[in-house]
Order: sequence, then C-alpha cells, then structure tokens
Amino acid sequence: DAKRGGRGIVRVFDESMDEGIRFRRRVESGLSQAIAKGELSLAYQPIVSRDAIDVVGFEALVRWNTQEYGLMSPATFIPIAEESNLIHELGDWVLGQALDVLQQWPGQYVSVNFSPRQFRRHNFVGHIMESVQRAGIAPARLQIEITETAIFDDAERAAETLYKLRQMGFRIALDDFGTGYSSLYNIRKFALDCLKIDKSFIDGMGRERESAAIVHSIIHLGRALGLGVIAEGVETEAQVQALRLAGASHMQGYFFSRPVNAERALEMARKGTVSGSDDVSTDDHRI
Ligand code: C2E
Ligand code: MG
Ligand code: MG
Ligand code: MG
Repeated sequence: DAKRGGRGIVRVFDESMDEGIRFRRRVESGLSQAIAKGELSLAYQPIVSRDAIDVVGFEALVRWNTQEYGLMSPATFIPIAEESNLIHELGDWVLGQALDVLQQWPGQYVSVNFSPRQFRRHNFVGHIMESVQRAGIAPARLQIEITETAIFDDAERAAETLYKLRQMGFRIALDDFGTGYSSLYNIRKFALDCLKIDKSFIDGMGRERESAAIVHSIIHLGRALGLGVIAEGVETEAQVQALRLAGASHMQGYFFSRPVNAERALEMARKGTVSGSDDVSTDDHRI
C-alpha cells in the first residue's frame, strides 16, 4: 500500500487484526444482550421426503437482528459465541424456543444444531433430557445435529454420549458430512440416524464428476450402514432428480422452501407438505 509508505506490512497487519478484534468484541457484547432485548429468533426450514411430498421435520436456524449491522448470519456470530461462554446461553434459548414451537406441529421433528462446545458440555445428555421433559416432548421428535468436529476430537467420549442419546430415543444427524475429519473407522462406532450431505457437494453435482461421485458414495455409505441421508442446499429441479436417482432419502433446500418463521412453518407442518406454499420470503443476511 503506497499511502502507508515505509510503515510496512507488519503495521498493516496489526491494524486489520485490531479491526477484527474490535468487531469480535462488539459482536460478543451485543450477543450477550440479544436474548434479553428480543433480537434473536428462529427460522425453520422444512426437510422433505425423497418424493418431495411429505415434510418430515424442520431444521431450526437461529437469526439475529442486530441494531448495528442488521440481520447477521449465524455463520458470523456462532463461531464468536462458540469462542466465549455465550454459546451455552444462546444454545439453551434456541433449544427452548424450538421445543415450544414443536408442541404445535402434528408429528414432525425439529432438528437443532449443537456446536462442538455445547456437545462436549458437562452433562450434555442430562441437560437435553431435562429440556425435552420440561417441554413434554418425546425425545424422538428432537434431532440433534452435530458436526464431525464435535465428535472426532475425542471419539471415545463422543461415541458414549451419542450412544446414551440414542438409547433415550433422540435422533442424531451428522451435519455438513464430508467437510470435516471423519474417518470411516470412527463412523461405524457412532450411534447415528442420518448423514447430512454438505451443500458444497450438492452444488458441484451438475458441474463436476468428482462432486457427483462423492454424493453417490455418501448415499451408498449411508444405506449400507442403515442411515438416512439428507441432501442439504438443494436448489434446482435437476438436483432433485439426480438425488432421487442416487437414492437420497431426504432433501432440504431453497428449491422446496427457504427457512421461514414459526407461523409459516406451522402452516407447512399442518399441511404436511411444501407444495403450494408460494414462498416469497428472502431470509437474506446483510452481514
Ligand atoms: P447448517 O446447519 O449446515 O445449516 C444449513 C445452512 O444452509 C443454513 O444457513 C440454511 O439457511 C442454508 N441453506 C439451506 N438451504 C439452502 C439452499 O438451498 N441454498 C443456500 N444458499 N443455502 C441454503 P444459515 O441459517 O445461515 O446457518 C449457517 C450455519 O450456522 C448453520 O449451517 C449452522 O452451522 C449454524 N447455525 C445456525 N443456527 C444455529 C444454532 O441455533 N446453533 C448452532 N450451534 N449453530 C447454528
Ligand atoms: Mg445444520
Ligand atoms: Mg449443514
Ligand atoms: Mg453448514
């Protein structure tokens, strides 16, 4: 940068770091008050059966309407919450909210994302059980979404946690499958119900043979292990056709519906289908 002249790279680097840290602090302090201020909400995205007729469940996705930046993506603030203790408070709020809404749906499950730190929290199993019992919900109606990162650090302990959860009747989904550090050796030891194929592979399916091959492999793996396979981020008719042919058991994506608010989700849940839902919502993040 010519304007900075002799100050050099180190100085430029420092400045950008300061900015990053300032942003993080601001997000952290904003987030610590977000629940009390009512700035958080949940959006629900339907998960549909292979034939795209039945809505079997909804993924709960947290939304934060910040005063400073507008609607902020969870991809931005969840990692910041994860690095501080805020993830627990935020996670508890998400779970409580999702379970409340679930009570009104006829039979679908709610799929809730848990970050690695939540999953490794002391007495995670007891905590989850207590929450569903308090809400009067059958464990089978809660799907716990975790990523490979959450379980592959300490595989032994994770396997035990998952086993207990599964014994109690919870559903377990491995999210963003294929992007983390799974080893097939470990996968077979984990008590899972389904694999969620990451959107990046679905995106690539029509473009590159490699992505299509990976998608097919994951679907075969899932079937061989007796697991469901949810394809994430399905946006086009062509993807739907290809995934059906490949044998994916479930799909989720903008093609069917964007994440919608609780009211709209309830309508879909009651109808039991996404067809005919003239979805015009955008659910776009500004940051
Ligand atoms: P994820 O769990 O993999 O969620 C799927 C993401 O893909 C969501 O982004 C969803 O809105 C988006 N998506 C779904 N279908 C499509 C599609 O067809 N096209 C495109 N372009 N996107 C699609 P979102 O809501 O921004 O969430 C991002 C990530 O933030 C989530 O990825 C999850 O890792 C995390 N997250 C969201 N809510 C929570 C939460 O309550 N707790 C935790 N711990 N993490 C959360
Ligand atoms: Mg997820
Ligand atoms: Mg995912
Ligand atoms: Mg993701």
